[in-house]
Amino acid sequence: MTKKLIHLLTFIVALHVSAQDTFLHCGKLIDTKNGKVLKEKTIVISGDRITKVADGYLTPPNPSDKVIDLKNKTVLPGLIDMHVHVEGETNPNQYLERFTLNDADVALRATTFLKTTLMAGFTTVRDMGGSGVNVSLRNAVNKGYIYGPRIFTAEKSLATTGGHADPTNGTKSELMGNPGSKEGVVNSAEDGKKAVRQRYKNGADWIKITATGGVLSVAKNGQNPQFTVDEIKAITETAKDYGMFVAAHAHGDEGMQRAILGGVKTIEHGTLMSEATMDLMVKHDVYLVPTIIAGKEVGKNARIPGYFPAIIVPKALAVESKMTETFAKAYKKGVKIAFGTDAGVFPHGINAQEFGYMVAAGMPIMEAIQSATVTPAFLLNQTENIGSIEAGKLADIIATDEDPVQNVKTLENVAFVMKEGKIYKN
Ligand SMILES: [Zn+2]
Repeated sequence: MTKKLIHLLTFIVALHVSAQDTFLHCGKLIDTKNGKVLKEKTIVISGDRITKVADGYLTPPNPSDKVIDLKNKTVLPGLIDMHVHVEGETNPNQYLERFTLNDADVALRATTFLKTTLMAGFTTVRDMGGSGVNVSLRNAVNKGYIYGPRIFTAEKSLATTGGHADPTNGTKSELMGNPGSKEGVVNSAEDGKKAVRQRYKNGADWIKITATGGVLSVAKNGQNPQFTVDEIKAITETAKDYGMFVAAHAHGDEGMQRAILGGVKTIEHGTLMSEATMDLMVKHDVYLVPTIIAGKEVGKNARIPGYFPAIIVPKALAVESKMTETFAKAYKKGVKIAFGTDAGVFPHGINAQEFGYMVAAGMPIMEAIQSATVTPAFLLNQTENIGSIEAGKLADIIATDEDPVQNVKTLENVAFVMKEGKIYKN
């Protein structure tokens, strides 16, 4: 083939492929894979994917291409929050809502939470449990019916009878019924297998168990173990058959240890984790999702008289500062960290405040950013698609006015949001 012909073909291909490409001129660009801040880069986006990351500010070859000037911004991959609840948001009436809201009400209200989360720079979230509406919300985002982050959901959390995620806790006896595997309540290894298979059938991406008591359930104990190791093993092994990992909500140490030995992939909150359990986390390659902001926010609300039912107040006050202390210690001991907030327990959209808390507790900002990008991309089995800005990956890109490495607070007010090549905020 002659050189001329090759040029002609290249030109035709370029014309065809790159019609209406987007060129982002990035003053600074955070390389989350290598933990470096790069300068003066161009990201080329075609459709929903990044096709090229180049040095300097490239001039687009076609008049139809779009140039976005982010020369005075710091550009980074869309953030990933590994612990949110897309269906709800804290308010003084939240304990009544399950008796007053229809699924349609929950879904329509959630559209505002999802939009807020996306505008805050979070382009992917892992939803850690709701009523099942979360699956529909995920599908609606994927189909483009509503704006929101990409959702990976646990659908309904699994609990034991009276456990943290038993949906009938605190109701009068005739409403309690006898929830089972279908409702996510298990009391044996067999129940656990069935409950996982039911979640798969319902469209879950992950399995979540409530390995210990919890702060916001209408129950006395916020930290006791609530599953046996055998039950947890049955759940994690069954989940594995269906290509799912298991996350364990856990405040108390004994329940955490059982969850780790039972084969879970992430420990949520980890509030009262002992040093021995931290060692166990490292040994079994289990990640901590710290949710420091959730501890701060529930503590704040617990001081507002009547905000929570009385049984919850002492539990909320007990976790407030403990989560920060545990996170600081676990980080120092080498426990792997995945960014997660528990948004919904506090207003959606302020998720990025977690970065400030992580940094204050001793984690360097670059590592905190990696915990919200490359690390969760790996845990979600999405390394090919998200977590870093590289050719071939989905164009989930955000930008901040300042360099977050200099000022972590700038992440709380992102200036630019693109998801799958579409600009939502500029
Ligand atoms: Zn949660």
